[in-house]
Amino acid sequence: MNTSKVRILLVEDEKHLAEGLLYNLSMEGYETELARDGQEALDLFDRGPWSLIVLDLMLPLVDGFEVARQIRTRDARVPILMLTARAMDEDRVKGLECGADDYLTKPFHLQELLLRIQGMLRRSSWYRTVPVEGDRYFFGDGCWIDFRERTAMGPHGERRLTEREASILKFLVERASETVAREDMLREVWGYGPGVETRTVDNFMRRLRTYFEKDPATPEHIVSVRGMGYRFDP
Ligand code: CA
Repeated sequence: MNTSKVRILLVEDEKHLAEGLLYNLSMEGYETELARDGQEALDLFDRGPWSLIVLDLMLPLVDGFEVARQIRTRDARVPILMLTARAMDEDRVKGLECGADDYLTKPFHLQELLLRIQGMLRRSSWYRTVPVEGDRYFFGDGCWIDFRERTAMGPHGERRLTEREASILKFLVERASETVAREDMLREVWGYGPGVETRTVDNFMRRLRTYFEKDPATPEHIVSVRGMGYRFDP
């Protein structure tokens, strides 16, 4: 990857952490700009394009949830890595619902952040180079996924997909009718090693069900396989 063109928008209000991250991201060769509150983040975002957003959750003026939500209305694709000080499930779920692709709980090791960023950037550039045959994949009762445009149609209407959502769907579609283990998805889609929480997968599956299932509580397409993982039934 040519890192000279990688631009990272860092949104962090804790001065020392922000300065440390800014320094280290620059040392990695990323062109990085710092926003110290949610409003500055949105202003800077409009001066993109950005390759990736590192977004703290607790911010002055506009919080990280709202920043993610607003970024998603302007750009469905840019990867968003959320930083959360609280290891609370509801924050993670809410963050993912607001459009974040991944999260890291504070305090984290710098190396962990850098690896996570590398992984997200690699998948994002991999994804852009994957040739898509045909524009739309059709399934079920009028559902489709457009991997090129990253849009999808389900019983509740059309919607845009984030990069991560599209990657997960691609993974599932390529393995239609097969049971896939959470661990395999984490490794292939997220690039994580063993030992990472598999609940991340469940959070995304819950979200995708709201897109494609008539009744997300009784899924027909994104089916849980007890003790194993998931199966995509077209
Ligand atoms: Ca903060």
